[in-house]
Amino acid sequence: MSRRASAAATKARWWEIRGAQNLKPSTYRCPLCGELLPAMREHMLMFPEGDHRARRHAHTDCVLRARARGELPTLAEWERAQPGFRERVGFWRRLRGER
Ligand SMILES: [Zn+2]
Repeated sequence: MSRRASAAATKARWWEIRGAQNLKPSTYRCPLCGELLPAMREHMLMFPEGDHRARRHAHTDCVLRARARGELPTLAEWERAQPGFRERVGFWRRLRGER
């Protein structure tokens, strides 16, 4: 993990991320840049390791930039990066008679 990586990106091994637009006029603070985020504007919701109670509101641009840097991996991306993942997948495929 680089020193530049934001705190938000280091707290969870993977993130569930989806688009959001709130109808209530609240203001959040983006965990990626620390700037204010009006909830009524289109933005992103980030769930650390899928935990919906711990959701964070983030600017769409900030999420896209972090993803471009290789941060905020999805569950599938995180799993693929684990040691032995290929071997495990191969084992189950062979068990089911797949190639
Ligand atoms: Zn931001």
